[in-house]
Amino acid sequence: MKIAMIASEVVPFAKTGGLADVTGALPLALEYCGHEIIVIMPGYKCIRDAKLKISRVSKDVTTAVIGKNIKVFFIENNDYFNRDGLYGDKNGDYPDNLERFAFFCRRALELLKEINFSADILHLHDWQASLAAAYLKNLYSSMSFYCQIKCVLTLHNLGYQGVFAKEEFPKLGFDWELFDIDGFEFYNRVNLLKGGIVFADFINTVSPTYANEIQTEKLGFGLDGLLRRRKNVLSGILNGVDYSVWDPFTDRFIMQNFSLANLEDKAWNKEDLQKICNLPQDKNIPVLGMVSRLAEQKGLDIFAQGLDELCKMNVQLVILGSGDLKYQEILKAAADKYPKNISLSLKFDDPLAHKIYAGSDIFLMPSFYEPCGLGQLISLHYGTIPLVFKTGGLADTISKNNGFVFSQYTEEGLLKLINKAILVFKNKKKWMSLVNNAMECNFSWKVSADKYIQLYVKANKK
Ligand code: ADP
Repeated sequence: MKIAMIASEVVPFAKTGGLADVTGALPLALEYCGHEIIVIMPGYKCIRDAKLKISRVSKDVTTAVIGKNIKVFFIENNDYFNRDGLYGDKNGDYPDNLERFAFFCRRALELLKEINFSADILHLHDWQASLAAAYLKNLYSSMSFYCQIKCVLTLHNLGYQGVFAKEEFPKLGFDWELFDIDGFEFYNRVNLLKGGIVFADFINTVSPTYANEIQTEKLGFGLDGLLRRRKNVLSGILNGVDYSVWDPFTDRFIMQNFSLANLEDKAWNKEDLQKICNLPQDKNIPVLGMVSRLAEQKGLDIFAQGLDELCKMNVQLVILGSGDLKYQEILKAAADKYPKNISLSLKFDDPLAHKIYAGSDIFLMPSFYEPCGLGQLISLHYGTIPLVFKTGGLADTISKNNGFVFSQYTEEGLLKLINKAILVFKNKKKWMSLVNNAMECNFSWKVSADKYIQLYVKANKK
């Protein structure tokens, strides 16, 4: 099958979150299964600056290769993409994001024809790419080159929909008739993700539980009614982990490589983490790691409420995060107050993330909602036990056999479970059995890729 992926971020070129991990890894797994894939993404400034092996295709398109022979195409535009951020800067989202991603989606569709890639499937990711479904169905489907293409839209997080003022709608190039309840209109504003959900042939999200949750008022972010109407074409496929990037046995960022066969070497990484984080080097103190966007979704409200109590428990918290100013400030104040307990790094730092996954004992992920979550899957592979709230992909992947799960989303619920985890940590036999179970879990992309292929086949038959 010929598959064209369209996404706004892709590892190793540009990343703000798990979306990039998925769009970087899924194509590799699909290629391994014998399919022909291309990926199209914006040619951001960071890509130009990164001195990667990139060649020019045309005046505004460059390309690089990932996997064996997957071409990633970068759509350049000085006005739209030659900026430091992907979606915004310290003042918030870029005000012209609608124009930027409308341009990107149309240019991506044009590119397919220019390079004569007659895709069977257009696989779109999130609101930034979802417009391509609407363009395909409304402006391109009458052209013979495009009429056979089927569209799959993956929803990585319903909390981000690309919503803009009604006045911006004409910039999309559609007639006003598409600005209605069965199109882009959303409480009298333009909703780009909604347009994608309406026009895609199939929709999926990144875990089975989240696929159900987004059909409820509680987690549907206003789109639950539409998703219920489209439930016949809606499914959930769990993300995998790219174990060529996330493997403690080969990880070049960590102090000492280890695997199940020489698990005792994990301890060197804990010592190293405590050292670089300026925390007392003591193997008996449990280290709780957190690598997260600092957003409400990630459970930071109950975590922040519990910080004082937590620091009385003789634990060490190693927190790496970037995001909301509000949480940066709360965490900064706590780190100043408890320097022996908290190490805080307010930035995006991939090498440090690897060190935290490897050197912590417990990985905290108390997300209020979590479409799939990669942190808990990565930490399992590093023998770092996830402690999670029972929601979405966390509920689908973590149980008492490989981690700790709380089901009451409150500060008390979280603290009670951390207390329990610390007690288990002190019982070395029980702890090692949990670590063994965790490291034996397999969330490789192969299983997920097979499910995507089934979905593409179904879409193709439609
Ligand atoms: P989301 O996509 O909602 O941010 P996921 O758990 O799906 O959450 O994926 C997050 C990914 O981003 C993981 O690979 C995680 O290690 C990484 N990550 C998150 N915050 C940081 C950070 N501050 N520095 C480095 N990596 C980070």
